Amino acid sequence: MILTKIGSIIKQNDNFAIISHFSPDGDAIGSSLALYNMLIENGKSVDIYNQDEVPKRLKFLPYSNYIKNQLLDKKYECVFVLDCGDKDRIGNLVDIFNKTNLIVNIDHHISNTLFADINYVDSNASSVGEIIYNLLKINGFEISKNTAMCLYTSIVSDTGGLKYSNTTSMTLNIAGDLINTGINFTEINRILFNTMTKSQLKLLSKVISTLELYKNDSIAIMHVNKQMLEECGANEDDASDMVNYARDIDTVELGIFIKEVDTNKFKVSLRSKNKVDVRLIAEKFNGGGHVRAAGFTIEGDFETVKKNILEVVSKYWK
Ligand code: 5GP
Ligand code: MN
Repeated sequence: MILTKIGSIIKQNDNFAIISHFSPDGDAIGSSLALYNMLIENGKSVDIYNQDEVPKRLKFLPYSNYIKNQLLDKKYECVFVLDCGDKDRIGNLVDIFNKTNLIVNIDHHISNTLFADINYVDSNASSVGEIIYNLLKINGFEISKNTAMCLYTSIVSDTGGLKYSNTTSMTLNIAGDLINTGINFTEINRILFNTMTKSQLKLLSKVISTLELYKNDSIAIMHVNKQMLEECGANEDDASDMVNYARDIDTVELGIFIKEVDTNKFKVSLRSKNKVDVRLIAEKFNGGGHVRAAGFTIEGDFETVKKNILEVVSKYWK
């Protein structure tokens, strides 16, 4: 059992690093910090990394301010890579591979490329948080209130508040167990799902005005560019969940969100409701993800990029 083996590695070593994907979401940060909290509670020495800043809404998580954006000049007995379908998702901190002889990849993307020395990929898990919960349980590690806060954040982030089809009865049982540690879950839900800054709300109004519908209103596309962000005093992460508004339209099966990240470079998010496997579409563009949520990066001018995406997507339309 790989989780038992990973448990032994934790018990037998003292010096760890944890890293997750760039442009981190609640699962990347939540699962990393859950593992971090548990390891330090067990007296381990741990550095926790991400290429990018922690999104504002996740800064309430314990030790989120310990996440470093630059690698230290150090070696580790073991490095955990969390929520990364492939090695490139680590971004410009990929040099961490040269700082250890033991990389452990823990993920839930079916498209995972198994890039590490030890790979534990459970595509039935709602989130990496759910896997970390199992890792701790199976190996008899205590789940403190701090760790529970991080795990709960991770799980509800990737399941849209325990609502998406990746939610199983196991996910709900785990959430229940985490709530029993006494965490303030209503406050966490409010922070994650019912809080917006003024900038975000202004940005949302601009983003919604970019809406375009195709294929009998079953495909919705919205976009955001640097100028819109600037006009609203918003940053890239402020737009991270806006793809949901495209998907939520009653007639829509596929929501597409195109975000300008650089001149002629775009990050695309795909969300589907019932039928389309968006991971397959993302993989056509060298991206990846899950059946109902996937993404990729693409270069070119905006109109060409949009046309290109619609052409590929059309092949999946009957
Ligand atoms: P989002 O649209 O929120 O950025 O990502 C949705 C899902 O797709 C997440 O599970 C994320 O990890 C995955 N994903 C997004 N972009 C990429 C990408 O460029 N490559 C891969 N492999 N997965 C991605
Ligand atoms: Mn995830």
